[in-house]
Amino acid sequence: MPEKFIFEYSGKGKTGVCLPENDCPETSPENVIEQDLLRKHPIGLPEVSELDITRHFNHLAGMNFSIDKGFYPLGSCTMKYNPRINEKLSKLPGFADLHPLTPSQYVQGALQIMYELGVYLAEIGGVEAVTLQPAAGAHGELTGLLIMRAYHEHNGNPRKYVVIPDSAHGTNPASIIMAGYEVIQIQSGHDGLVDIEKLKPYITSDLSAVMITNPNTLGLFEKRIDKIAELVHSVGALLYMDGANLNALMGYVRPGEIGFDVLHFNLHKTFSTPHGGGGPGAGPVGVKSNLIPFLPKPAVKKLDEKFELDFGDDTSVGRVQAFWGAFGVMVKAYCYIRMLGAEGLKLATERAVLNSNYLFNRVKDIYQPSFGGTPMHEFVVSGKFLKPYGLRTLDVAKRLLDYGFHPPTVYFPLIVPEALMVEPTENESKQTLDDFADALLKIAEEAKSKPELLKEAPHNTPVRRLDEAKASRELKVTYKG
Ligand SMILES: *Cc1c(COP(=O)(O)O)cnc(C)c1O
Repeated sequence: MPEKFIFEYSGKGKTGVCLPENDCPETSPENVIEQDLLRKHPIGLPEVSELDITRHFNHLAGMNFSIDKGFYPLGSCTMKYNPRINEKLSKLPGFADLHPLTPSQYVQGALQIMYELGVYLAEIGGVEAVTLQPAAGAHGELTGLLIMRAYHEHNGNPRKYVVIPDSAHGTNPASIIMAGYEVIQIQSGHDGLVDIEKLKPYITSDLSAVMITNPNTLGLFEKRIDKIAELVHSVGALLYMDGANLNALMGYVRPGEIGFDVLHFNLHKTFSTPHGGGGPGAGPVGVKSNLIPFLPKPAVKKLDEKFELDFGDDTSVGRVQAFWGAFGVMVKAYCYIRMLGAEGLKLATERAVLNSNYLFNRVKDIYQPSFGGTPMHEFVVSGKFLKPYGLRTLDVAKRLLDYGFHPPTVYFPLIVPEALMVEPTENESKQTLDDFADALLKIAEEAKSKPELLKEAPHNTPVRRLDEAKASRELKVTYKG
């Protein structure tokens, strides 16, 4: 049964708390707040009992899909399991209740965690320094671009454009524009990788940077990075890595060692912070030594076994985040890295790649890839074969909900028609992977024998197919009874 709006439970005078009458008039709002700041009309919040509100939100939570409820193979998102212990540690009162303006001498432990997390990420990324400030991957991209811009400006010319392949995540061009550059998009080669011939015309002194996702959004490793790095560096430009897919590389490839100058990490993807609900996340950025002077400030510094916030040089791009960044997310990433250790992180990568390849091989004869090559931690296949039955990839995605699975990412990357992008992550058992493969294959059968089953799916969810275009064009965020 669909859940009512909380306003529909509301009734005049219902309440979850019973406070005694205020017998201290000097503290009443009219006496504390200036007259012209006082609200003229009641705000119109719902009035409900404690039991009503508890049930309402429990009903809503029960309808939600989450990694704790089922398989969530959302490509490019790394919906991995987030060990409970990380949550527990990040919520210790000594961490969770810290005031951001507490003087450094009283928060040495918190600063130590930030400092050491930076050291670990630098080690994993093969870079010399890391800023923890950015709030997410997209924000990390913007920060990285501002750092590269500051570097070029320092050398006398900010330059004009940034090159990305057509498989890039949508945040890449958006960040480039925000950093004041022109976006040049080049077509990928027949192998799905960067086409060096298409890149060459843009290797000029106007090039600021090339941004590459590796493995790219097809799940394929960009094999010619050394060649690309050589070309980019030959004109004094920089190579940026979108590190959202680090789950395929950890412990095996250090981006800084294969020619990248800057990369961002998505702590909420690779390093176990729950996401999908809109945050908080964190997108630290790592750089090679020539870019250190331009990193955001403050950074945590270690001096004689003491940790300090360093508000540093004028060359810095400045602050990119209020206070010090998403500290709770940093604690989770720190615990995760400490708990797994170097060997554990390598194993996570191995299993992520193994799981993805196992699943890929189980479905690839029906759901075929548009590009050859062995995928890494995720793979992209096409739902083109559904066309004769009047169906599309979207119908498969909706039907998967009836089988209890969260659908994979669909229609991204844009260069694959009817794309399905599947990322199982390292945590899933063979049993779960088999159940999911069986469901995909069964749905392909249903497409032929009973296409209306797909067309009308989902059948078993609290709400059926939504008009997503209408929902975003006519967005209503208030309730009017
Ligand atoms: C997720 C993702 C981003 C953006 O990261 P957010 O943390 O969501 O801002 C950028 N690039 C790729 C390839 C991604 O998968």
